[in-house]
Amino acid sequence: MARRVALLGATGSIGRQTLEVLRGHREEFTLVSVAAARRLDELADIAREFAVTHIGVAREEDRAMMAGKLAGRADVVAGPAGLAQLAREADIVVNAVVGFAGLPVTLAALAAGKRLALANKESFIAAAPLVERVRATPGAEVVPLDSEHCAIHQCLAGSSAPGHPDVRALWLTASGGPFRGWTRDRLAEATRQDALHHPTWSMGPKITVDSSTLMNKGFEVLEASALFGIEVDRVKVVVHPQSIVHSMVEYVDGSLLAQLARPDMRLPIAYGLGYPERLADGWGALDLTQRLSLTFEPPDVEAFPAIPLAYAAARAGGAAAAWLSGANEVAVDAFLAGRLRWSEIVPVVATVMDGFVDGPMREVADVVAHDAAARDRAARAITVHS
Ligand code: NDP
Ligand code: MG
Repeated sequence: MARRVALLGATGSIGRQTLEVLRGHREEFTLVSVAAARRLDELADIAREFAVTHIGVAREEDRAMMAGKLAGRADVVAGPAGLAQLAREADIVVNAVVGFAGLPVTLAALAAGKRLALANKESFIAAAPLVERVRATPGAEVVPLDSEHCAIHQCLAGSSAPGHPDVRALWLTASGGPFRGWTRDRLAEATRQDALHHPTWSMGPKITVDSSTLMNKGFEVLEASALFGIEVDRVKVVVHPQSIVHSMVEYVDGSLLAQLARPDMRLPIAYGLGYPERLADGWGALDLTQRLSLTFEPPDVEAFPAIPLAYAAARAGGAAAAWLSGANEVAVDAFLAGRLRWSEIVPVVATVMDGFVDGPMREVADVVAHDAAARDRAARAITVHS
């Protein structure tokens, strides 16, 4: 029987590519629900094409309008509670929402014992202690869509002992982003246009900016550590500009397992939907009859302090990742709105982290409070930096 898929964040970069994969596999998967925030005409088109039965919108005030567009053919829910409801009512939940807003999807899907096909890394790391708890629900599983983590998931096959004692290190590859090799002086002049031009991936604006500061790689270090239960000091970053090796696992005997494919997110998306089976698409097939050069170099952590900042947050534990992610989201929004220079994004986050105050992380309300505290401090830091 076809598995029921909820695609939350359907109008974004991951959302659209998920739809492409689903179009090729209508027998195996039925799209039952979709959600988005602002691109509501596009959301309605998707709902009609796939004849979905449930739609989620971010704002309550858009509910009636969306119901009208669909002429009663689908139920419309709104807000975080609506997202959570949709996540509980599918077999596979694709969390393609951007930022902290993805939290209800992750928690509800896992608490209901579903497969979470995870793109939304921000809420996963911000709420890691809570996520850890709900992952223990029978049936709950996380299959990562982030290309690096999807690669590691594949390279870890056969390493099943808790904490992976047979693994020496996880090696996350980083393209280096648009500013690889730039000096600090040149980086001080980086513009919005420069930052939005990623050399190997076409993605939504927030993760494209996060890739330019390498905060995205910092988040991925936290994501890998939480996802695979491996201490952060065993998670390493290496710059690999071709984006062909998506990540690697180094075993204690010195063997290094890598996953290679063309940089195409439809491959990890198809993996996340089909796992443990492989969908026969070949999106990422490499042409090995052509000359292929792969290079690796250490990241420049002085020019890109987001990476050490993320390791520091990982070592601090508790609510530090929630602060890091919340502060970064505000700084990136300000940059995209033209209110903050590129070179001030990470300094704003660093200022917030300097004032980090830990506290309980037991309930969703605790995570929300930490996120709000970090946002508030980031907003204040931006007025000083801008
Ligand atoms: P986009 O900005 O392209 O898309 C974000 C999606 O989330 C849109 O559909 C948007 O709706 C929706 N959305 C935003 N807020 C809400 C809300 N409150 N309720 C419901 N839907 C909401 O982002 P990407 O697709 O690039 O990224 C999505 C996530 O995947 C991020 O966490 C990113 O880090 C991660 N990721 C992305 C990769 C990529 O290649 N793009 C690679 C690896 C990870 P609308 O557009 O209608 O406002
Ligand atoms: Mg990634």
